[in-house]
Amino acid sequence: MAGLFARIERDNLAQTVLFTGPEGSGKKTLAARVAQKLLCPETCGRCPSCKMLAKGIHPDYLLLGPDGDSLKLEQAQQLKAFLSSPPSLASRKVAVLAQCQRLTVEAANSLLKVLEEPPSPSYCLLTADSAADVLATLVSRSQVFALAPLPRDTVAEVLKGKKLSADQTWFLLEYSQGILGRALSLSADGDFWQRREEIALAVPEILAGRGDPLLAAEGWQDSPESLALLEFWLRDLVLLQAVPDFTPANRDYGGALAQCLAVCPAKKSRALLDQCQRAREYLQARCNARLVFDCLALMMWEV
Ligand SMILES: [Zn+2]
Repeated sequence: MAGLFARIERDNLAQTVLFTGPEGSGKKTLAARVAQKLLCPETCGRCPSCKMLAKGIHPDYLLLGPDGDSLKLEQAQQLKAFLSSPPSLASRKVAVLAQCQRLTVEAANSLLKVLEEPPSPSYCLLTADSAADVLATLVSRSQVFALAPLPRDTVAEVLKGKKLSADQTWFLLEYSQGILGRALSLSADGDFWQRREEIALAVPEILAGRGDPLLAAEGWQDSPESLALLEFWLRDLVLLQAVPDFTPANRDYGGALAQCLAVCPAKKSRALLDQCQRAREYLQARCNARLVFDCLALMMWEV
């Protein structure tokens, strides 16, 4: 994103900017940095502007996000009023509209004009997981910056400061796929590590026809992380069966993976991995989570 900051210095940044990237990829952090740079070009951290921004009381800065599920018309109107009034402390006004894919159609339409030609000197920074989720008429009015996953070494460097074993770090580097915010939040999430352990215990038993699939599914259904963890477990199986000398993400559960390999033919592990993808689609379509996980666990249990 070096180009982004150079654009601000050259005064060449569009007044409406859209940052896209998966949850945890740093959109909010980046938008906050850009806002600071726009409000204090030196980003000194000491001037009244920087201090007020850090405290969240800068009169020329507005941060808006979804109220409940959506960004409603009242919030759009608040944003319009903010962008249209002159700055009082800095030379510019900066608004951040987080998760702009949640704008209701009514709210988005009310913003089109102000985002097309924001009153000078106002900037509006939008964020969304993917530009595909945002109304095309909003995207077309924005300069879009897509955040790429970070290199593995960069994430590893940051995780060094966390209390993780070498195996846990290895797993998180695989699992977070370069999304630093995700790696950081999971590193300290005790429930996440416990779930991973439960899956390592339950899956070999279910695949061997001993464990109770419906009991396990009951425990999985209440966390969105369960499906991703199961998917990673099955991905390890598929790759161990296909790639010689493959080091699994769950390398600290080598014994449990070996038990699975002994009872699960390659064809079945591939089918189960596909089923995880289908389960993800069902959950996104708001199907009953209990049924989705029951179905997956029963498929594991079946010979
Ligand atoms: Zn400053």
